Amino acid sequence: MSAQLFPEPIPGQGPTAGMFFSNVGVNGLVGGLGAVINKKPGQQGGKVFFKGFAQGCLGGAIQFGGKSLTYQINRQENLAWIWPARLVNAAGSSITVNAASNRNFWESWQLNLWFLRMDYDLTNRKFRTRVSTTGIYATLYVGLGNTLKLGPTLATGTFIFEGNQGWASSGGDRYRGIGYATAIGYPPEWEQEGTYYEWMAHEFAHILQYDNFSFINSYFDKANTRWIENSKGYRGFSKYVYFDLGGPLFYLTYLAESNQPWEYRTFERGADRYGRHVAWPKRN
Ligand SMILES: [Zn+2]
Repeated sequence: MSAQLFPEPIPGQGPTAGMFFSNVGVNGLVGGLGAVINKKPGQQGGKVFFKGFAQGCLGGAIQFGGKSLTYQINRQENLAWIWPARLVNAAGSSITVNAASNRNFWESWQLNLWFLRMDYDLTNRKFRTRVSTTGIYATLYVGLGNTLKLGPTLATGTFIFEGNQGWASSGGDRYRGIGYATAIGYPPEWEQEGTYYEWMAHEFAHILQYDNFSFINSYFDKANTRWIENSKGYRGFSKYVYFDLGGPLFYLTYLAESNQPWEYRTFERGADRYGRHVAWPKRN
């Protein structure tokens, strides 16, 4: 948080119906589109799209519920509230991933913890824990030069660092924190000012927003299967490494608004509504 002269945020403003419907709509579309990409021979395109769309809508509604729970971190001043928020959100992400893979909504369940990616496939009865490429990158990006906070890291399933190095010094605003895909960095000022839980709730909302981009890997299901069949090296790697495309896609989507002041960016407004119950006045 910086000393903003103008504008001031409006308190008491939680997530809106518009945010609910955009979660539902966007997940419906990405679910339906993915389902068509993964259409099996003989399946009818329209039917496949509609099923993926309906499942995606369900996933989006649940994601909205999960992200809304991050406010409890702030209100109760307790980081443990990330668990219900994360689990509900992950259920929503999983349902959209299944939709985009042209599978039934319950077939596969995912969870991102620290830099790990866990999947439980109910159909194949297979549990897998892999290292996520985004998880490793984010942990290094946020962590290098800063201090690992071991207690909060273990308690939340998220790497949490304190400091003013790297991302902080390059961002031009040393009071600002970061919720970067799977890792959180925060400046010591938050604890001194008593804004720690408020801003942690905001950063955890970003962590869950990242999780919502998991669907994009489903768009490459067919290619992935082909590479596993044809390349021994890829097959070996992909047992231990999850080649995450959600992180890069989130980053690109976020960058699309990088010319805006941060408080007007869609994902920042979302994180402020979910985690802080704060809204920004319209720009004139
Ligand atoms: Zn933010």
